[in-house]
Amino acid sequence: MTQVVVPISNPEPRFLLERSQQARAAGADLVEIRLDQCLAEGGSPSDIIETLPSLALPAIVTLRHVRENGAWDGDESDRLAIYARADERGAAWIDRELVFHAARPWRPTRAKLILSHHDFRGPGHKLAETVSAMRSVHADMAKVAVMPRDAADLAGLRALIDGHGPVAAMAMGEIGLPSRLLAGAWGSALVFARLPGDAGSAPGQPTTDDLLGMCRLRSQGPGTRIYGVIGNPIAHSLSPLIHNIAFAHHGLDAVYVPFLVDDAAGFWDACGGWIQGLSITIPHKHALQARMDDLEPLCDLVGAMNTIYRKEGGTVGANTDADAIRRCGERAVDGDLRGRRALVLGAGGAGRAAVFALRSAGAEVLLANRTQARADDLARETGCTAVPWSSLAGTSFDLLVNMTSVGLKAPGDTPWPHQLPAAAGVFDSVYNPLETRLIREARAAGCRTVLGLDMFIDQACAQFRRWTGLEAPADAMREACIRRLSA
Ligand code: NAP
Repeated sequence: MTQVVVPISNPEPRFLLERSQQARAAGADLVEIRLDQCLAEGGSPSDIIETLPSLALPAIVTLRHVRENGAWDGDESDRLAIYARADERGAAWIDRELVFHAARPWRPTRAKLILSHHDFRGPGHKLAETVSAMRSVHADMAKVAVMPRDAADLAGLRALIDGHGPVAAMAMGEIGLPSRLLAGAWGSALVFARLPGDAGSAPGQPTTDDLLGMCRLRSQGPGTRIYGVIGNPIAHSLSPLIHNIAFAHHGLDAVYVPFLVDDAAGFWDACGGWIQGLSITIPHKHALQARMDDLEPLCDLVGAMNTIYRKEGGTVGANTDADAIRRCGERAVDGDLRGRRALVLGAGGAGRAAVFALRSAGAEVLLANRTQARADDLARETGCTAVPWSSLAGTSFDLLVNMTSVGLKAPGDTPWPHQLPAAAGVFDSVYNPLETRLIREARAAGCRTVLGLDMFIDQACAQFRRWTGLEAPADAMREACIRRLSA
């Protein structure tokens, strides 16, 4: 079973005790005392070692050497003397790098020995041989931490855990985060997580809340089905939050994680085999169509794909944005879109989905885009009417749809600095902030409004339906987003 380790470091023993209590309350199994960092900040080795028996959790004691990104650059004999003292005073584990152990073997008498290897510059090479070397000198645990260059490198780490007996293996940085969030599913012996508000001891450590709460590490196992979202950037994505709520709501053995991906095709080729379903966001919505066994008709028509699911052994690509846009448009006009006049602002990926969705629902579509040529091209392709961005003020419509990024994280900006007719419906796809200036002004003008969050939840529920055949708990997902966005 995967054990959760909270790394702690501080020169003050009192602080270490407090932190160990917080780690236990957060659900951790172990703390790691980063003695090298404690000493670098002025702590006394003997004072810190004396706290070991009083800690609230068993401790890994680590005096990491500068050669593997630690802060200890002293003499190896001094390091072994400190380790020996920590062993005597009740350390549960001692962590020493393989390279030092190979040059000068040493074993604790009471504690167990972790032999570790870190590559902060790349995904590591010959990792299986490294782990075998650790085992051959009787390490009680082999630990490997590497820095992936792209998410495709996660495949190698997963294979290492899968095929080489108990090993603690993790990828660092934001690209490596899935290896930590999936530690239970992959079977890593340890996973390091930071307390909320702490910096952690290596880049990319998740919080205990994300690991134990959102990703339900304790329920993960070899049969856990793995889902995720690919994009770049991805850290802001609310998809892991809401899809994990949905999996937990139905008690499904499944987990959903964010993949920071540069090369989408390379990622899918390396990792697609063990992923049951994917959400796809910017800039990868055009990257994987050719790799699917089948595309849903709307996905094919729009030419953008935001969902992968599996059906009868094959992979299927879908565009759940387009359906969500149609439903949001219907809500904004309070009925059928047939014969209604919709003005779409924006001819990027979302604008394109909107034009196809609204037209296939029977609306007359007008399209405007800041860069006129993009609007002209899309209008020509779809048979809708392009309206110049500079002469929008007099345009009449039943439905205004904002598919530009204007207003995104900019509550003072609006793509529509003009009068709004009270009879119109207004749908703004931007959901951060929850209420954009466009929505505020539309409400004040008496328009029916639909929020970008409605589209986000709707497209996610449609993904969940394709993955599981079940209805997602839309209200709980929506409330979680509101809490996160209002924090
Ligand atoms: P995109 O392909 O990058 O397109 C961005 C669009 O915004 C383009 O039409 C661009 O016009 C326009 N734009 C950017 N800055 C502008 C400005 N200052 N003034 C006027 N127009 C401007 O992005 P996308 O995938 O279409 O996404 C667009 C927005 O849709 C996102 O920011 C997001 O808020 C929203 N969205 C929401 C959901 C949801 O679930 N609620 C889903 C997808 C997207 P140019 O062509 O002139 O650059």
